[in-house]
Amino acid sequence: MSTTKRVSVITTPIYYVNDLPHVGHAYTTIAADTLARARRLGGQDVFFLTGTDEHGQNIERIARERGISEQEHCDAISAAFRSLWDRYDIRYDRFIRTTEDVHRRGVLKLWARLRGAKTPDGRDAVYLGKYSGWYCPRCEGFKDEEELRQPDNVCPDHERPCEWTEEENFFFRLSAYEGWLRETIESDRLRIRPDSRRNEILGVIKQGLKDFSVSRARVKWGIAVPEQPDHVLYVWVDALSNYVTALGFADDGEAYRHYWAGGDERLHLIGKDIIRFHCLYWPAILHAAGVPVPTREFAQGFITRDGRKLSKTTGNVIDPVALVQRLGPDAARYFVLREAPYGADWDFTDSAFVGRYNADLANDLGNLVSRALTMAAKYCDGKVPPRWEPSVPEGVGPARAVDFTEMFATSVCVPNDGLAAKVLGRYEDIDFSGALTELWGWIGQFNQAIVQAQPWSLAKDPARRGELEAFLYRLLEGVRLVAVLVSPVMPRAASRIFGMLGVGEREPTPGDLAWGRLEPGRPLGSILPLFPRVDRDGEPKSGSEDAPATKTATKKQKETPVSETTPPPAPKPEAAPAAAATAATAGDRIDIAEFAKVELRAAKITAAEKIAGSKKLVRLQVDLGSDVRQVVAGIADAYEAEALVGKTVIVVANLKPAKLMGVESNGMVLAGSIDGKAVLCSFDAEVAPGTKVK
Ligand SMILES: [Zn+2]
Repeated sequence: MSTTKRVSVITTPIYYVNDLPHVGHAYTTIAADTLARARRLGGQDVFFLTGTDEHGQNIERIARERGISEQEHCDAISAAFRSLWDRYDIRYDRFIRTTEDVHRRGVLKLWARLRGAKTPDGRDAVYLGKYSGWYCPRCEGFKDEEELRQPDNVCPDHERPCEWTEEENFFFRLSAYEGWLRETIESDRLRIRPDSRRNEILGVIKQGLKDFSVSRARVKWGIAVPEQPDHVLYVWVDALSNYVTALGFADDGEAYRHYWAGGDERLHLIGKDIIRFHCLYWPAILHAAGVPVPTREFAQGFITRDGRKLSKTTGNVIDPVALVQRLGPDAARYFVLREAPYGADWDFTDSAFVGRYNADLANDLGNLVSRALTMAAKYCDGKVPPRWEPSVPEGVGPARAVDFTEMFATSVCVPNDGLAAKVLGRYEDIDFSGALTELWGWIGQFNQAIVQAQPWSLAKDPARRGELEAFLYRLLEGVRLVAVLVSPVMPRAASRIFGMLGVGEREPTPGDLAWGRLEPGRPLGSILPLFPRVDRDGEPKSGSEDAPATKTATKKQKETPVSETTPPPAPKPEAAPAAAATAATAGDRIDIAEFAKVELRAAKITAAEKIAGSKKLVRLQVDLGSDVRQVVAGIADAYEAEALVGKTVIVVANLKPAKLMGVESNGMVLAGSIDGKAVLCSFDAEVAPGTKVK
């Protein structure tokens, strides 16, 4: 991390108050908030701006339909956005509303500059012209004839006829800025990403840019044009200007001078449907007015649901309020940023949301935290063990369990190559899923390291006390650093982990990125469940406990409903436990792909009952993490039913259901045998129900 503080502005588009917030708004705002938090964590000086666009003919119409004033309507919808951002733990520095006076004054200042501006070839940047064309009142815009659907010149976005309209407007001479725009974008002085969007914009320039009108004659709800008070300034000059007016452009305020004019980066996160306005109109307007232009614009993709376009008319929507209420803000933020690379189109499904929650958050992260703290509580008297300092190794040692954490510790400490630098770098690249994938790789290694180091065995041998403490210190530090680095995405969880580690529930700071911040001897906090497991419908699981896990069941497994499996050829009862224990003969080997078809999972027996009339069969209820199901096993001759409850066994989870003595069995328990009596397969250490066995 550099020593001089990098200064930047991060913005979302301001959202139009014609309707309540939708999930696309939440997606951009979560991304902007995460990037702002990551930059602050990296020691940067950031200003995060969002807000609402409140002018225009649509608002006039909606307010009229609702029988309230325009301002009342704007106040209500704008408040709905702010309250939604509170729910999502969005922490903006400024929420601008275009009905604010400071905005109006800023727009008029910009307008005055544009009126006096000359194009690169010496003409007026703004001129009065006659505009005629097909106008869609819903779009508040003129449409190109070829865009319209015939008959009736219907707007393709709004399914309503457009009106042929002629009016005298002010125009901005965009055509005169073609060369400047091309050069600015090609040189990456304005970095447009993803690359596909950059190419799209360069393609538009190549086709030739048209001047666009910047005032409207028939609209009252807006900022009046001083030269023509019966006109208002159109959205390109009004709404886009918020990015500078919010910072105090009107009065050349300190925030404007520091963050916009004097900053290192002016970054707009946008939707891919508005890139032309942001990547062509807006930079050209600013350039004409002599104001520094954006340095970077990043366009996010569209979200579909279950493979279909989000549409209010078909009811296929994702309600952002319901989304955040379902599993909390951390889970919602995590999911939208992890599920797909930012910038790509992606498909939302409920099962993926719940699956990721259980697999990534409840199992991987939740279990790591609870295991580390439980062991520290048990073996170190609830206190931070003595400090372990990394010795910087040449290369990486043999892959013994403890070396994983040694590698972690040292790599964190190396500024340019460490985990922290890597994860912060991914955030900086607006690669949120990459940052999280990086972190989850480490979470997996920690969980693996616990299994290999076996602290519970070390604890039995007083001579290995030092080894135990060294391991646990590293583990706790690892958990702490994961919390620090995940905090931009999941601020609440990070703060709670800090609380459990005894350092107080608070937001991580740049100083927390260093290794060894846990003070030996300090009492740890109490262990709280971070992400309680939920069932397929997102409801809390009853009777499941947060047991430790090494590796989670995959999303795919979580999504497979048991009921969808089709009935199988019924296996013979006595074959049930023995079959899987029989190895393939040497002449009949299978390849790994064939083995991979068998889904083996850890399962905890929650109930067991001998089946009346059978010598060997016992009816088991087993918890597979994602569901509890009934399995019949031929082990009653070797085990008392009551003694089975609480055991963690291995189950073939994707076996088709079968009936054994009339009782349905959904899977098979693995066992070997000694003298014909079943011996259950189990684990060397406790693993969570649902853990995949491979
Ligand atoms: Zn339209």
